[in-house]
Amino acid sequence: MSRVFYVNGDFVAEEDAKISVLDRGFLFADAVYEVSTILRGKLIDNNAHLKRLGRSMSELSMSAPCSDEAIIAAQKRLVEVNGVDEGLLYLQVSRGVADRDFAYPANVDSSMVMFIQEKNLLNNPAAEKGLSVISVPDLRWQRRDIKTVGLLYPSMAKQAALSAGADDAWMVEDGLVTEGTSNNAYIVTANQEIKTRHLGNEILSGITRTAILKFAQESHYKVVEEPFSLEEAASASEAFISSASTFVMPVVKLDGQPIGTGTPGPVAAHLRKVYIETALQREDL
Ligand code: PLP
Repeated sequence: MSRVFYVNGDFVAEEDAKISVLDRGFLFADAVYEVSTILRGKLIDNNAHLKRLGRSMSELSMSAPCSDEAIIAAQKRLVEVNGVDEGLLYLQVSRGVADRDFAYPANVDSSMVMFIQEKNLLNNPAAEKGLSVISVPDLRWQRRDIKTVGLLYPSMAKQAALSAGADDAWMVEDGLVTEGTSNNAYIVTANQEIKTRHLGNEILSGITRTAILKFAQESHYKVVEEPFSLEEAASASEAFISSASTFVMPVVKLDGQPIGTGTPGPVAAHLRKVYIETALQREDL
């Protein structure tokens, strides 16, 4: 059975899921998005995702397509009609359709599309094996706190990692790691502190990051929100990433060299377990 997509209020088959050539998302990457996890048919931490969506739109003076309640109703219906138990729901809002002009158009309704990818997230074999990452310069724009669809550089970095036989790339600016191509980056130092870059315009404030930093504190780990260098990462006892699609995923290799023992570490394993257990118990983390 083919997937059902959501396009501006309609639930349609893939072949009918179309938007205009003049959509500003296509012409200018003038669009923002969110990715919510679906576990056992429920959207995890979706309210936090919608709050970030609201912030992204507001930072770009983009009008909301409809109320959060209407978005949630459409998301739930999409999950239901697709009969998806586990996977990811992509929601994209663009400034809308207008004749090509750099200036923001006046009185234009924003466009909203949604689709689902069914995926095995809980039993992801990468959690057992760990990821290998390479470092690349962070060549993105300077408002990475806004979750826009301007994803060409992260896509180039991911491809560079795959071409080098790795799984992902960590981006580096001024000698310090910002984040992964589509995830936040962490190390566990030799004295068992969890270190991850502080929030600001340089990284996306991950919804999963917020949840796992809370879980880390509840588990009495010391959390330090500070940037770390590649050298610190190379000598860390372990490393990991977080995102809605990976939860917590160990990183075992950086630029071809093992991190710590070169196998998934206990802190990442613990936080992954707590994240999954909590997400299976309640929707807001
Ligand atoms: N950083 C970047 C650049 C991302 O693209 C993402 C997710 O797509 C994240 C971090 C993690 O965010 P979240 O935990 O909300 O999925």
